[in-house]
Amino acid sequence: MGNKLSPLLANVFMSDFEVDLEKERLFPRVWWRYVDDIFATVKERHLAQTLELLNSEHTSIKFTVEKESEGKLPFLDLTITRKEDNSVKFSVYRKPTSTNRYITCDSNHYGSQKQAAFHSMAHRLYSIPMEIEDFEAERKKIHEAADLNGYDEEFVNKILRKHERKRHRRNATTLEPEKEEIKRISLPFFPKLTNTIQNDLKQHGFRTAYKSNHTLKDLLCSLKDKIPRDEMSGIYEIPCKSCPAIYIGQTRRKFKVRLKEHKNAVDNDRPNESSVAVHSKENNHVIDWDNAKLKKCVRKPSHLNAWESMFIETAEKPLMNEDDAPITSALFQLTKQKII
Ligand SMILES: [Zn+2]
Repeated sequence: MGNKLSPLLANVFMSDFEVDLEKERLFPRVWWRYVDDIFATVKERHLAQTLELLNSEHTSIKFTVEKESEGKLPFLDLTITRKEDNSVKFSVYRKPTSTNRYITCDSNHYGSQKQAAFHSMAHRLYSIPMEIEDFEAERKKIHEAADLNGYDEEFVNKILRKHERKRHRRNATTLEPEKEEIKRISLPFFPKLTNTIQNDLKQHGFRTAYKSNHTLKDLLCSLKDKIPRDEMSGIYEIPCKSCPAIYIGQTRRKFKVRLKEHKNAVDNDRPNESSVAVHSKENNHVIDWDNAKLKKCVRKPSHLNAWESMFIETAEKPLMNEDDAPITSALFQLTKQKII
């Protein structure tokens, strides 16, 4: 299930599989499937035969069975309980190994990240049709989880009220709420800086999402072998030895390969291949190859133009660059003010 396409392919395959089997006498009358998890009702005496039928359909599909125990059976994140009148009721299923540990209150995460797990629990609480005792028991468990992770009651109540209001709205009308198109930007989280940038971006219609940049893994070790900086791609700077000018460029290949091309263009007097060669030739200046450096490693090709533009727009030295930055935006100036 690692590939993004896997669930889709599994669905296509299983639908086809079901069409073939549905005609069979032994095919279960209740068959609820989510991707490759199936809830089915089969008479105990037909179980072995039904399983054989299902497993005979395709060599690579092998079904295993988990039977109900004391009238209960977990399915996805539900516990399905058979009642005396043979109807079923639902409650929330938690793995016996669940520790109820989420992002703790004192952790250095953005508020919405801390709320996420509780929003998901609240959503489940209000979306699963539960009987009142199960509903109350689940609500209690959410409060316990919050307490265990250091949150006060109001933190959870606020989230629960939000979902309750949503449910009321859903019950009151079949109209969908108008949704404005949301543009999102992902930023690393630094408590003060990020909040300021977030407010500025909000005025331009952007919502921000945060990624934590302080994982334990980041702090303790880097699991990959470190790639030498001059063998990485990204944004680089080449200074002039004879004047303060610098050249800022981007490369999708290794920095040292691109640097060599600039050097060859200068050495062999080919100004049409490099703005650095133009600067050197026109001014008769010497280029400071030793201090050329990769300013920013960029892994995502789609980010190259933005980073290059940011360095060009915020450069404090004159530029040798003959072309403008690929992206022009006043936002780059803003970023400069906030960082400094
Ligand atoms: Zn110069």
